[in-house]
Amino acid sequence: MSKTIAINAGSSSLKWQLYTMPEETVVAKGIVERIGLNDSIFTIKYGEDEKYEVIKDIEDHEIAINMLLEQLTTLNIIDSFDEITGAGHRIVAGGEHFKESAIIDDKALALVDELAEFAPLHNPAEAKVIRVFQKLLPNTLNVGVFDTSFHTTMPKVNYLYSIPTEYYEKYGARKYGAHGTSHRYVAERAADMLGKPIEELKIITCHLGNGASITAVEGGKSIDTSMGFTPLAGVTMGTRSGDIDASLLQYLMGKLELTNIKDMIDILNKKSGLLGLSGISSDMRDLQNSDTEAAKIALEIFEDRVRKYIGSYVATMNGVDAIVFTAGIGENAVDIRKNIIDGLSFFGCEMDADKNNVRGEERIISTDDSKVKVLLVPTDEELMIARDVEALKK
Ligand code: AMP
Repeated sequence: MSKTIAINAGSSSLKWQLYTMPEETVVAKGIVERIGLNDSIFTIKYGEDEKYEVIKDIEDHEIAINMLLEQLTTLNIIDSFDEITGAGHRIVAGGEHFKESAIIDDKALALVDELAEFAPLHNPAEAKVIRVFQKLLPNTLNVGVFDTSFHTTMPKVNYLYSIPTEYYEKYGARKYGAHGTSHRYVAERAADMLGKPIEELKIITCHLGNGASITAVEGGKSIDTSMGFTPLAGVTMGTRSGDIDASLLQYLMGKLELTNIKDMIDILNKKSGLLGLSGISSDMRDLQNSDTEAAKIALEIFEDRVRKYIGSYVATMNGVDAIVFTAGIGENAVDIRKNIIDGLSFFGCEMDADKNNVRGEERIISTDDSKVKVLLVPTDEELMIARDVEALKK
């Protein structure tokens, strides 16, 4: 039976999910962590709750993928490698070139490499994994699914920064956004759940995980999103600051005696957000379980920034039909969803406390009378990737 594997490769990890297509049945999934470090962890989940796990040094992605393919046959999940007819690879930066998911031939792969300038930690690892697939599975169709593609429909008014235009023209300095596959998936699901054509809807999708972004989806197209040139911009995140006055960087670099801007950006990416504010953790659950003033403020700031983006996108679209919550926090944090929506009652948003009392389940969580519908939609980027591969197989 024809199978498609959805791959999400990081610099030291490889997450994957194997589907029988077109049935969209997940036959196995797994993760390889700590690639290139000691005691890498290799896990496969399959069948009825079965699990295979081994801890050993896995030096690079090629060894990891070799191990994966071998185990898939050893565990009888596939009969032969030929069964895997498609591989969908999540790629962080697609720039202006990749407006949709694309078959990755040598020319496209060279472009993925070129775009590493926009995602230095991600694109090179992803390109490396595609090369390994080309080598080990020469008959498998490789498809790139880009985090940025969904946002390539943004109009200039929303993607240009107010800096000299030539920086955009010469260097591509603009907003690209991220999490596009997730925003696309949940917006489409929301339209289905509301029983309306997506072309007629104004939807605000809130992907609230460790990374978080808000998108304005009008007529099925992303017209604005909170992440920017990189995923550092937008709302407060687990360890990322979100929006900040650029002048503060110069001031803080002086105070902290930093001479390399990379160190400052590192602080904004890795030591800020919920972690920096609370001084406790980047994990929302830790903050909820803490009774310190700093954790409380961090939580309130998070809710405030999400609410502000929702408000601004209501203005951008001159209205909104539905607000969608997804990802770790969006799917599970009942109180945070409630607090965000309670502050938006002025434009006709009303949460139903009972319906909202749910985690990780597709559901409309606003009252029947609420003018603006609020929905919980668990994201499924892997399924979206597998679907895109399937569409390009034809
Ligand atoms: P993600 O990046 O989508 O995996 O989301 C991770 C974030 O979701 C972390 O901040 C978690 O603390 C948060 N999260 C997961 N489960 C819950 C929960 N039950 N309540 C609140 N936050 C949660």
